[in-house]
Amino acid sequence: MPNLNDPRIPVLLFGLTTGIALSAVVQYLYQTYQTQKTITEAQSEVPQDELDSIAPSTAAEATIDRIRKEFYIPAARLQNMLKAFVKDMQRGLKQDGAIMKMIPSYVTRRASGSETGTYLALDLGGTNFRVCQVTLEGAGKVRTKQRKFVVSQELQKGTGTALFDFLAECVEKFLEESGIGKDTRMHLGFTFSFPVMQQAVNKGVLMSWTKGFTASNVVNEDVVSLLQAAFKRKNMNIKVAALVNDTVGTLASHAYVDPATVAGIILGTGTNAAYVEKIDQIPKWKGARPASGEMIVNMEWGNWGADRIPLPSTHYDNKLDRHSPNTGQQLYEKMISGMYLGEITRYVLLDLIATGELLRGQEVPELKKQYSFDTANMSRIERDYTKDLSDTRLLLEELYGITTSTLADREIVKHVCQFVGTRAARLAAVGIAGIVTKINKLDGCTIAIDGSVYEHYQHFGNRVRDALRELLGMCSDSIVLAQARDGSGQGAALIAALAES
Ligand code: ADP
Ligand code: MG
Repeated sequence: MPNLNDPRIPVLLFGLTTGIALSAVVQYLYQTYQTQKTITEAQSEVPQDELDSIAPSTAAEATIDRIRKEFYIPAARLQNMLKAFVKDMQRGLKQDGAIMKMIPSYVTRRASGSETGTYLALDLGGTNFRVCQVTLEGAGKVRTKQRKFVVSQELQKGTGTALFDFLAECVEKFLEESGIGKDTRMHLGFTFSFPVMQQAVNKGVLMSWTKGFTASNVVNEDVVSLLQAAFKRKNMNIKVAALVNDTVGTLASHAYVDPATVAGIILGTGTNAAYVEKIDQIPKWKGARPASGEMIVNMEWGNWGADRIPLPSTHYDNKLDRHSPNTGQQLYEKMISGMYLGEITRYVLLDLIATGELLRGQEVPELKKQYSFDTANMSRIERDYTKDLSDTRLLLEELYGITTSTLADREIVKHVCQFVGTRAARLAAVGIAGIVTKINKLDGCTIAIDGSVYEHYQHFGNRVRDALRELLGMCSDSIVLAQARDGSGQGAALIAALAES
């Protein structure tokens, strides 16, 4: 029997209780750790419906808000950009070497609708190369037949000779299929949508490649001679009668249908515009004064902002530009057109993963591939109206094998698309407002717009309209934005017909 009066007893008891308490604490901590561990381990196998129930948290909302601010252009800023834009148009009309090249197209009259005959038209400068046969039936009627060909990356980046031989070969195939002998004499309109210093309606020198093309020995050459030489190598009896920018073709062919048309705009792989200018507003024009007193001007507006001042570039834009083959050029185009919108979005998503704000920071190796996120995906995501954004989930899985996206993640992705897409439309509106302001057509006119971004990105048109209203007020209501389809091919044929007559 221990002596209860032993002075060591309290010490012993204290030690015992502390020990028990401590072990309880340790056990509790251990259990908590175990539970936590299983939660973490199970995370990757969390059923989809549980992932879906993780709704946007305050953190996600903060992320969305931050990106919104990065891409938002307030009305006052739009107004300033509009003023700068009109000034840059005037600079380009005054002298060569300006940021917007404002190239006289040598197209000085519009078709009357009475032109007839069968013409060929080629369209190079976008995702597809097209060969069209255009039959002008008179009375404003046109019949067309066309075939698309893919210009491979090798051809885009190989030698000029290989590229032009390929074009001639496609025409040869097309004629064969159409039952037209390859030695039939035909006139052709060549839509070539790159910056060309036009020297006649059928002569023009390539100033620089854009949209990823880099084929050798073409810059500083007359592209009509290069194409004509390729036909000659194949003993084909084709005369290249007109060299046309797609914007000029779009304008010309829409004016055939709607005489109020004053501009042709492309919102596709790239972006550009042409409009009808009074000849005395073009101080750099040294040629004869056209009877019409007008000239269609190819603006090459994609290069606007190359001095970086007026554009609201973010660090995502700068990164895209640094990694592009034409760094420092086409900065406006790089914020607007189909080739680039998906790429900007991709950079934003990568950034959000790196900061842990998206996909809990899980790396997605496939997303690191340049240009792996096509702009068409943005419109698909923006059209996802399902409650749990299941179409977006499917798309992320299809494209990048992402199976662990939460609803919050998908909300973020959708918003990023919305912000990048909205900024693009608002910027395009600055250009449109610029043209209308410059030629003083605020009382009403038609703008013909071609290209998949405008045609298929469901929200794009409305966003352009909204911004036009912010820029021009009520006047914007009298500006008709008309969808033009494949106008460039028809336009080239029309211009070839005019050139011949
Ligand atoms: P191009 O300009 O080459 O003549 P398009 O007018 O078809 O050809 O434009 C192609 C561009 O449009 C591509 O960059 C593509 O990403 C984009 N695009 C295609 N479909 C859509 C869509 N549904 N929404 C947004 N962009 C699209
Ligand atoms: Mg096109």
